[in-house]
Order: sequence, then structure tokens, then C-alpha cells
Amino acid sequence: MAGNRTFTMIKPDAVESGNIGNILQMITDAGFAIKAMKYTQLSEEQAKKFYEVHAERPFYQELVDYMISGPIVAAILEKENAVADFRTLIGSTDPSEAAEGTIRKKYAESKAKNAVHGSDSDENAAIEGEFHFDSTEVVA
Ligand code: ATP
Ligand code: MG
Repeated sequence: MAGNRTFTMIKPDAVESGNIGNILQMITDAGFAIKAMKYTQLSEEQAKKFYEVHAERPFYQELVDYMISGPIVAAILEKENAVADFRTLIGSTDPSEAAEGTIRKKYAESKAKNAVHGSDSDENAAIEGEFHFDSTEVVA
């Protein structure tokens, strides 16, 4: 059964370009409820741990440097079928391949600086949410 929560980050490029509000509006218009949210800047250690699955990829250090280059917004979102529906809302990793009307199509700069993160499975949504929030920071 599909879970009802996912985890997102509004990445440094989208914060820098002033699109936090626009992106949150798209997220809530699409029917996601915000269960936890914080404005923060990742340390190198946190970014390395978060993207550990990509440690062997050639772009790993570039990705880590980018993710710590400025503040982000981290959030836990709730909706039926949250993981898949949120991946649809954000669009393809590379904004040039993303569908019209998706967050990445509208606000991402490039495949590396692609505006938002979305969990890729229910299991990772839970791990990533717990990485950023303790239980007292999540509303019922
Ligand atoms: P995310 O996990 O951030 O939601 P994704 O699932 O669409 O993105 P992944 O394959 O998990 O894509 O890659 C994680 C992130 O690494 C991408 O969002 C992007 O910021 C960066 N990235 C992916 N591929 C490349 C690449 N070829 N060059 C530079 N950065 C890349
Ligand atoms: Mg991913």
C-alpha cells in the first residue's frame, strides 16, 4: 500500500531566486499538507550523509557543495500516494526534460541546480523525514 508522506527540500538555487513562496503555493495547491517545516542551512557532514547513496557518482562532491551553498527549506508533506504524486509535481531531474507545469520546469536552473528534492520511496521518505525532524517537530 502506498504511504501518505513524503519529504522535500527547496534547494539553494530556488531559495536564492526568491521562489520559496511560489513553490510552497504549488505544493499546497496540489493538495499536500505541511506536517513539518524548517528553514536551515546544511553542514557538509549532513549533506554528505543525506546523499550517501550517490557517494560513488561523479557529481557527488558537486552536489554536496551545492546543497551547502545556501539555505534550504526542509518539509514533511502529507497526501494520499504522496511519494509518487510529489515526484509527478516536481518533474524530471533535468528541467529541460520536465513536463510543463511542474516545479522543476518552472523554477529549476539545471540538472544539478534543480530547485527541489522529492523522496523516491516510502522507505526513504521516512528515513529522510527523521533525518531532518524529531517527533516533537512534526504536527499530528
Ligand atoms: P532528488 O533526489 O534531489 O529529488 P532526483 O531523484 O530527481 O533528485 P537523483 O538521481 O536522486 O535525482 O540525483 C540527486 C540530485 O543530484 C539531483 O536532484 C541533482 O541535484 C543532482 N544530480 C543528479 N544527476 C546529476 C548530474 N549528472 N550532474 C550534476 N548533478 C546531478
Ligand atoms: Mg533522488
